[in-house]
Amino acid sequence: MQTILNADLHCHSVVSDGTLTPEELAPRAAANGVELWALTDHDEIGGQHRAAAAARAAGMRYLTGTEISVTFADLTVHIVGLGFDPDHPAMVQGLARTRGGREARAREMSEDLARVGIKGAYEGALKYVGNPDLISRTHFARFMVDSGVCRDTSEVFRKYLTDGKPGFVPHRWATLGDAVGWIREAGGVAVIAHPGRYNHPNATREYALFTEFIGHGGQAVEVVTGSHSAAEFVKYADMAVEFGLAASRGSDFHSPDESHTDLGKLPYLEGRLTPVWELLADRIL
Ligand code: AMP
Ligand code: MN
Ligand code: MN
Ligand code: MN
Repeated sequence: MQTILNADLHCHSVVSDGTLTPEELAPRAAANGVELWALTDHDEIGGQHRAAAAARAAGMRYLTGTEISVTFADLTVHIVGLGFDPDHPAMVQGLARTRGGREARAREMSEDLARVGIKGAYEGALKYVGNPDLISRTHFARFMVDSGVCRDTSEVFRKYLTDGKPGFVPHRWATLGDAVGWIREAGGVAVIAHPGRYNHPNATREYALFTEFIGHGGQAVEVVTGSHSAAEFVKYADMAVEFGLAASRGSDFHSPDESHTDLGKLPYLEGRLTPVWELLADRIL
């Protein structure tokens, strides 16, 4: 299969922290020229059957997707799963367990924000939540923008909700081995999401993430994604080749108001890369 394909294999709906429904995302993706689409809600697959139906109605091919929160060497890392069986018990139960801690974490985040004078953040964030199982920092950020604490969500994540700032609550997510294992058991391919976004203390740790990921059976890395710079497209294309990983492409679109990169509006993968959809030819709906 060719690398020149408008595939968008990373985005979010109201089933996690996006603002559009699967039925709103699919025609938007199709209008932007997307030919192969995956909805990858955080730690959730509750939107998969809806997304597959909406993709079919909009004339796009579809791969099942999710983005799993993982704790690796004290960092939060995201692993995208593609092309798995959305009803597989390992995946369904593993994700349910991963979502489990979010409610208590959100209440603690709210208590910490109250200490710096931001009151009622839990109740405020809840108003933006589409799925009660999936309250995330993004919902807090929307509350803090709309209530005038910050001008935009990037200011929120600069001043709050991140390590060392008010409202940050450390959390233990899934292990790398568990996340990759669930994806593989369910017949899918595991992908390191937006590798350029992790604050690894040094290059050795980044290599350790790639090496351990491959050791667990991971097979791909996002090379072209909304938050990567042009230099990072090249850096991670090089690393994909060096580590023998397939390459993925996805906008990480969350919202028309917040996302810089719209669905499908990304450079194509370079011809020297093996596209992840080549590994998933028999899983495309
Ligand atoms: P959580 O899973 O609750 O930790 O929330 C993580 C989500 O917060 C990510 O998936 C992004 O949607 C959002 N996020 C994290 N950092 C930033 C940032 N610097 N700017 C905008 N959104 C961010
Ligand atoms: Mn998100
Ligand atoms: Mn992510
Ligand atoms: Mn994402």
